[in-house]
Amino acid sequence: MTQPSFSFEFFPPKTADGAEKLRATRQQLFPLGPKFVSVTFGAGGSTQQGTLDTVVEIQREGVEAAPHLSCVGSTRENIREILQTYRQHGIRHIVALRGDLPSGMGEIGEFRYASELVEFIRAETGDWFHVEVAAYPEYHPQARSPRLDLEHFANKVKAGANAAITQYFFNADAYFRFVDDVARLGVQVPIVPGIMPITNYSQMMRFSEMCGAEVPRWIAKRLEGFGDDREAIRAFGLDVVTGLCERLLAGGAPGLHFYTLNAASATKAMWQRLGL
Ligand code: FAD
Repeated sequence: MTQPSFSFEFFPPKTADGAEKLRATRQQLFPLGPKFVSVTFGAGGSTQQGTLDTVVEIQREGVEAAPHLSCVGSTRENIREILQTYRQHGIRHIVALRGDLPSGMGEIGEFRYASELVEFIRAETGDWFHVEVAAYPEYHPQARSPRLDLEHFANKVKAGANAAITQYFFNADAYFRFVDDVARLGVQVPIVPGIMPITNYSQMMRFSEMCGAEVPRWIAKRLEGFGDDREAIRAFGLDVVTGLCERLLAGGAPGLHFYTLNAASATKAMWQRLGL
C-alpha cells in the first residue's frame, strides 16, 4: 500500500505583511514534512502573479509546490503561457480547476469545464505535470443532479487527472459514499479529503454556504453557543475535525489535504493530535 499523502494549502498573500506572515507559517509547518503544498489561484486569474511568486519561493525552500490553475475566463493562449512559465520554473504538479467568474466580470472564455483544462494540459505538456482535480463529496453547488456530478467528475479523471482533492466536509459518510460511487464509474485515482480547521464560527458558516459544504446542525449549534469565546471554538473545532480525520484515515482515505488559511496553529495542532 502506498504511503498516505499529507499536504497543505495556502493562498497567495496580497500585501508585504501577508507575505511575511506566510513565511512564518511555512517555517512552522514545513518541518512537519508535507508531501507537497498547493497555492490557490484567484478567480478569473486575479492572483496569477502572486500564485507564481509564491510557488517559486516555496520550491526554493525545498518543498514541492503545486499551483492551482483555473481556466474560466481564460484563453488557450493564456493557459499555454502559464503552463510554459511553470515548466520553466521546474514545477511538475498542478491543481486544475474551472474556477468561478466573479459576478459581472467578463466572459466564460475558451474553457467551460475543468475536464477541458485537464485535456488541454495533457495535449500541451504530455506527462510533465502531476494533475490534481477537485472533488465534491456533497456535490458541486451547481450540479444538475448528483448522478451527473459524479459522471462529470469521472470524466475529469478520464481526461488525465492523477488524483483529486475534495471540497471540505464534516460528514465522513458523504466522502466514503462518493469514493464508492465514482469507483463504480471506473475512477481509481486517490481522492484525498480536504480538511478545514474550525477556528471562526461566522466565517465558516459563510464559506460553507457559498461552497455547498454542509455544517451539521449539532456543530453549528455548539459553535453558536460559544459566542465570542475563541478558545472554546478552537478547542471544540480541534476535537471535531481531528475525530473526522481519524475516521477518514481508519476508513482508507489516501491522505489529508489541510486548508491552512495561511495560519499554522490549527493545522499543527491537528497534525500533532493525529500523531502524523
Ligand atoms: P468542474 O469540474 O468543471 O465542475 C463545475 C460544475 O460543472 C459541476 O457542477 C459539474 O457537475 C459541471 N460540469 C462539469 N462538466 C460538465 C459538462 N460536460 N456538462 C455540464 N456540466 C458539467 N477556485 C478558484 O478560483 N481558485 C482556486 O485555487 C480553487 N481551488 C480549489 C481547490 C479545491 C480542492 C476545490 C475543491 C475547489 C477549489 N476552487 C478554487 C473552487 C472551484 O473553482 C469551484 O468549486 C468551481 O465552481 C468549480 O471548479 P471545478 O474545477 O470543480 O469545476
